[in-house]
Amino acid sequence: MRRILIVGNWKMHLNASQASLLVHRLSERIKIHRDIEVVLAPSMLLIQPLSLQIDRRKFRLAAQNAYFKDEGAYTGEVSFTMLQELVHYALIGHSERRHVFNENLGLIRDKVAASVRNNITPILCVGETKDEKQAKETSRVLHDQLISALSDLTANEVSAMVIAYEPVWAISNGANYANHEVAKPDEVAKAVQVIRHNIFELYGKKASEEVRVLYGGSSNSQNARAYLEIDGVDGLLPGGASLNYHEFSAMVNAADKMLNDRKGIDE
Ligand code: PEP
Repeated sequence: MRRILIVGNWKMHLNASQASLLVHRLSERIKIHRDIEVVLAPSMLLIQPLSLQIDRRKFRLAAQNAYFKDEGAYTGEVSFTMLQELVHYALIGHSERRHVFNENLGLIRDKVAASVRNNITPILCVGETKDEKQAKETSRVLHDQLISALSDLTANEVSAMVIAYEPVWAISNGANYANHEVAKPDEVAKAVQVIRHNIFELYGKKASEEVRVLYGGSSNSQNARAYLEIDGVDGLLPGGASLNYHEFSAMVNAADKMLNDRKGIDE
């Protein structure tokens, strides 16, 4: 069974004391879950101190980015090798990396390979822009992003990784968080089907069934359950909502409640 994954992307927010307080508040509200993994993606600067603070039975850490070379003369960069033992996961290909920092398909492919090589599970973010959606190019964009990002991996490596469907038009920029265009569950369901179908064609049935697929884009405690109920969705990747401990812990609780309701139905 695929474990539910809730990943909070803090982006370039929170200084050390704010982050420490947020972890403290989350720890008070989130219990140890067997079937749910809760992952925090703080800024690079905070990964090391938070790795000492977190209760590892409750939380895991993710990097928001890293460089694909293991070491060398790359001023200002941090490698996946340096992050080993500090993080379990790394976000790769987030739309802000693609569109603000102009990361291209080749760089994203190299980062995915470097992450796997260094035993860090990639969370590969894919998704179409508003223009691409309007031009009905969503399936083509997802196909192109997947085929290139995964091209250095084996089927087993793909099975073990995570893919996040994040339509660019549904991601908030902080300022518009409360009042933002959101993806309808049936739109997410279609895109997730396309993602799993591509994995099936490229890497076979086992990989298409085992790879975890998340949804991200203005998710919050109000809509969490609706997204989590979608067939083929294994979790959420909230940005704005992950900075608020009430919101983020309520999203984890929504996942827990859904699992408990399902158990109740099976019994
Ligand atoms: C994100 O940062 O990946 C994201 C989905 O942000 P938000 O939830 O704020 O739209």
